[in-house]
Amino acid sequence: MRAPVKSSVSSSRATSARILNAVRQSEPAENLFALLEEHVHEQVSIFYEPSSGYRGIIAIHDTTLGPALGGTRFWNYNSDREALLDALRLSRGMTYKAAVAGLNLGGGKAVIIGDNKTTRREALFRAHGRHVESLKGRYITAEDVGTSTLDMEYIHAETKSVVGLIGKSGDPSPVTAFGTYRGMQACAQHRWGSVSLSGRTVAIQGCGHVGYYLAQMLHGDGAKLVVTDIDGGKVQRMVSELGARAVKPEEIYTVPADVFAPCALGGVINDDTVQRLKVEVVAGAANNQLAEERHGDMLEQRGITYAPDYVINAGGLINVNAELNGWTAERARNKAGDIYDAILRVFEIAKEEGIPSYKAADRLAEQRIAAVAKVRQNFV
Ligand code: NAD
Repeated sequence: MRAPVKSSVSSSRATSARILNAVRQSEPAENLFALLEEHVHEQVSIFYEPSSGYRGIIAIHDTTLGPALGGTRFWNYNSDREALLDALRLSRGMTYKAAVAGLNLGGGKAVIIGDNKTTRREALFRAHGRHVESLKGRYITAEDVGTSTLDMEYIHAETKSVVGLIGKSGDPSPVTAFGTYRGMQACAQHRWGSVSLSGRTVAIQGCGHVGYYLAQMLHGDGAKLVVTDIDGGKVQRMVSELGARAVKPEEIYTVPADVFAPCALGGVINDDTVQRLKVEVVAGAANNQLAEERHGDMLEQRGITYAPDYVINAGGLINVNAELNGWTAERARNKAGDIYDAILRVFEIAKEEGIPSYKAADRLAEQRIAAVAKVRQNFV
């Protein structure tokens, strides 16, 4: 028989108090409560397991639509406060991403504090698995920065609430790339009155997993590709296989093109780059493309159509949702294809409400969550 899981988990309200006691080098209590008041979440749980050195935080933002799903990030945070803030911020983002993707999932995220290069992983991730298990299905985890599929297997030894296992849904990049491609088609429809990307020039930043699959689809459509990456080998493959034109990493922001597709890093739409872009559309797979929200306003002011990142790159989440629900690869791909409609809906809301697209995406998510919450309020 398994020993009971020792966790700080409990209801949302009570858990906040426990965080205050357990967060090392914490801020004064009032500040932490203020933090939790500012970032309204359903539940935050912390768990410390001394023998493995496990220190984990799980933030559950909202479960109106279903269990909270989000990866586990393993990172050497400078402080516990920074780790908590990251978990709060990322879990909220997952709620919005799942909602606009039309999935029956809520938003959550876990962080483990420590050196993600450690070779002593089994006990650590099994401790994390027990933490996840203690939430009784309210939170489902997956891979994220600093974790691997092998780590997910260790978690799986302690809980079923984990996806991204070896031999299951596999590399999400093709599904993410397909969703991004469909989102780009929606931008073309919105901007130029036709879904076709034939003859359009697309500047792709990042020739990694998603960038490569995306480039293949665009090439198949007859788009012209301009590409960059800090890894010369990956650029060369795009040049020789897809006839892409290579530019230096810094040049990608000033290349005249129809579309800029960030597929590498976050924060690439910033004070430095936003004025230099010579494109009509920004549509790519990278997470957190806007350095700050105001850069979304600046894109709007410049008349550049922006496909909000978490809407267009939801294919990865759709892929793990497929694993969770036993969907076929084809069904996952079809669902990612619906990103086309989601992007068009975002632009409609933006127009109706006179707001930039990044804000319209939030509205779309909030509308769906509110509508579902309403029909579920009665006891059945
Ligand atoms: P990847 O690591 O395979 O590719 C990223 C590429 O960007 C690498 O080839 C890297 O060399 C390059 N790069 C790094 N810094 C660069 C720079 N300064 N200039 C140009 N290129 C640079 O990652 P990926 O899986 O293709 O994901 C790409 C982006 O999409 C990431 O932001 C990721 O968070 C996001 N995303 C990916 C998925 C997915 O399913 N893989 C899902 C959702 C979001």
